[in-house]
Amino acid sequence: MIPNKKATLEMETEAMRAYGYRVVDAIVEHTATQREKLPVALASREEMDSMFLEEAPEKSSDAEEVLNFVLEKVMTQSTIVSHPKSFSFVPGPSNYVSAMADTLATGFNIFSGGWAASPAAAELEIVTINWLLKIFGFPSKKGGGIFTSGGSMANLTAIVTARRIKCGDDFSKAVIYLSDQAHSSNIKAIRILGFRKEQIRIIPTDLEFKIGLNKLQNAIAKDKLKGLQPFLMIGTAGTTNTGTVDPLSEISKICKAEGLWFHIDGAYGGAAILAKDGKKLLKGIQKADSLTVDPHKWFYQPYEMGCLLVRNHKWLKNTFTEKPEYLRDVEGNTSEINFYDHGVQLTRRFRALKFYMSIKTFGLQAFRKAVTYNIDLAEATEKYLRKSARWEVISPATLAVINFRYNPIKAQLSEKELDQLNQHISEQVVASREALLVTTVLNGQIVLRMCLINPRTTLQEVKDTLQLCAQFGQAKLEA
Ligand SMILES: *Cc1c(COP(=O)(O)O)cnc(C)c1O
Repeated sequence: MIPNKKATLEMETEAMRAYGYRVVDAIVEHTATQREKLPVALASREEMDSMFLEEAPEKSSDAEEVLNFVLEKVMTQSTIVSHPKSFSFVPGPSNYVSAMADTLATGFNIFSGGWAASPAAAELEIVTINWLLKIFGFPSKKGGGIFTSGGSMANLTAIVTARRIKCGDDFSKAVIYLSDQAHSSNIKAIRILGFRKEQIRIIPTDLEFKIGLNKLQNAIAKDKLKGLQPFLMIGTAGTTNTGTVDPLSEISKICKAEGLWFHIDGAYGGAAILAKDGKKLLKGIQKADSLTVDPHKWFYQPYEMGCLLVRNHKWLKNTFTEKPEYLRDVEGNTSEINFYDHGVQLTRRFRALKFYMSIKTFGLQAFRKAVTYNIDLAEATEKYLRKSARWEVISPATLAVINFRYNPIKAQLSEKELDQLNQHISEQVVASREALLVTTVLNGQIVLRMCLINPRTTLQEVKDTLQLCAQFGQAKLEA
């Protein structure tokens, strides 16, 4: 007996085609018209429950009905992170070619763990990692890397590798250094890996939010005197808060002299290397032992795609290779890389494809121009803010991030009043859904933060948003 289509989870060929076209139409429509939509989605748990909560259905439903329901109710209830007026956190500008590449990778369900399962997927990962090694000035022959789900997983992978290579099995005395502006994913990774709190040194940053070198050196010296084992320094190339780059060359020298592994978290700012000004700011990035970059941020890829690069590809293999019996027949020769031996995941989706297809299609030059535009846009925004007696720049435009606050000189507001005013402005803007613009805290001050990595955001859209902020601010002051 031939099972019916439903029992084999299949659709008729023509039905598949029609279904697929509707999905593509929806994606294209969204991509082409998102500018006219409101970027912010606001809904409570109760509202979402009332829309979606149900038992798993035993019976089938009409495919088109389910699709329509999802297009109407699900896809509309998410903040549009690729919207030109999504300024907060780190936006996800993405690009259509990569979205289609992801669709292909999923449609063919390509297993990107080992060479035997897909030589082409492994090869494209090798090729695109090589592109990145070259872009960041890492050793092209000896260097290596792996694509991960994101920056958090890349940082975790880096810290495990550093520990394996520097400490072996005994890390009871190992100590890790990072600044107070380092991304929280590093602390999370350190905790996941079973380090104790006493093994972490959070080094204060200076007025520019860069790690204090003197403080770092003192901490290392003190720990060595105590008989501890300083083994890892995590620097940041573009902090998420302010875009600040730690003094990478100087840190590298300290790490060399003291025998520390130097990991650079470039998840936010790494991509700025594609722009001339960005490259200057990132001087020394090529000296890291390992480097996190996050293509789903400023390399314009859709979620999920992070990346870890290392100076020596053997480090990854020495850290992550395990040899269960059932994988014996698929080991292959050493030039044919099994990426499951280079990271945490065995079964992996084919992430390299979107990076490969988007760079082949648009060319690296288009990416360079987009990143340069983003850096320039933030600088133009700073200039605009500085010309006004109502705005105050708190941290200057750096790698497309700028922090500022509404502070009309005439109003003579106290620090507390300024905090309340800018918090109010952000809440009103988000409630209006016109722009995603939230606050951050710098030196204890509540400030507005714009992250301008969307190449489709215009200066006019920035000015319109600032105008809206000023209106809410003025209304509050007059109330
Ligand atoms: C975003 C970010 C991360 C975490 O990356 P995910 O892709 O969100 O996991 C780590 N470090 C920095 C500096 C970041 O900006």
